[in-house]
Amino acid sequence: MTKVIVSGGTGFIAQHILNQLIKSNNNYNVVFTSRSKEKGDKVINLFEKPKNLSYEIVEDVAAPRAFDHVLQHHSDASVFLHTASPFHFKTTDPEILIKPAVEGTKNVFLAIEKYGKNIKKVVVTSSYASIARTDKKPTDIITEKDWNTQTTPEEIGNNPVFIYRASKSLAEQEAWSFIKNHQVNFKLSTINPVFVFGPQLFDSEVKSELNTSSEVINKIINLKPDDKIPPFKGGWIDVRDVAKAHLLAFEKNDAEGERIILYNGNFTDQTILDFINSKFPKLNLPKGDPGSDKKALESVPKVDDSKSRRILGFKYIDFDTSIDDSVKQILKAKGEL
Ligand code: NDP
Repeated sequence: MTKVIVSGGTGFIAQHILNQLIKSNNNYNVVFTSRSKEKGDKVINLFEKPKNLSYEIVEDVAAPRAFDHVLQHHSDASVFLHTASPFHFKTTDPEILIKPAVEGTKNVFLAIEKYGKNIKKVVVTSSYASIARTDKKPTDIITEKDWNTQTTPEEIGNNPVFIYRASKSLAEQEAWSFIKNHQVNFKLSTINPVFVFGPQLFDSEVKSELNTSSEVINKIINLKPDDKIPPFKGGWIDVRDVAKAHLLAFEKNDAEGERIILYNGNFTDQTILDFINSKFPKLNLPKGDPGSDKKALESVPKVDDSKSRRILGFKYIDFDTSIDDSVKQILKAKGEL
């Protein structure tokens, strides 16, 4: 059995990764990391205690040599998927996000270098935020060759979104520079998704506030009829496809050494609202300016993700299915469906 380690097993994306790994026909033996025993036990129970799932505690990925014990206990592991990193827009202090992102990544590689002699593949969950700068023009075409270089204190200032974006770019740079400067026995790939939508793996994980990307949809569902529509926009992809890409990134040799953009189109809050209003009219949400998303999205640069799609070779879940599944799950949790 191939042993796969997944950092951050409590996360929105990681739970879907764990689910696909433990159910895969490839018979994976899966070890995830959790910040506490309580959270680790909860995940094991949510999955109904499968034989091929266990966990190790890593309280803080940024603590010196945070992952050494994980690789010491599982020196037979051959794959490491590093998803654990804080994702929120709630801090104006760059250290809060940049330190765990960068030190966490470095600690994974240091542990593999010292104790993970059987690790053959490492997949780091990076982000589209480490690819595109925010000042790209609509005529620009973004590919995996691009880097978000907005990482200096002058450029990020105290802007929470810029701080998160910089944390992802600096962490990914750390990963590629580590394998360049050290003799390693494994191949690295990065997964670079845009905003990730779709349902939580477990209905019981739906709380009043969700993880940052799911909260985009949750906020819209909770708008009052007279509320203004937030001017939010970006690219989107479904979480089940993001999880699948993590598996393919280590299963397919074509993915070795690649940055894999995951992108399935653009949205504004109005796009999501228009869909919800047409599908769930009884919710009595504001109307905003239906259809105005087309104009708003004209300012967004194009993405050329053809190389990533070629490597992965599967069809992504469409917008309506992704949003519909997300909305229904939230409404069910609120007792409104
Ligand atoms: P979640 O917030 O759901 O998951 C984040 C995970 O990281 C949790 O398991 C969390 O643990 C763990 N974590 C955070 N900080 C630390 C720390 N200091 N020490 C140990 N563990 C830590 O987010 P997502 O699932 O959405 O994100 C997972 C990854 O995907 C992140 O790297 C994120 O940057 C990336 N990503 C996400 C996108 C999205 O739209 N969702 C888009 C692009 C990239 P705990 O639950 O205990 O706090």
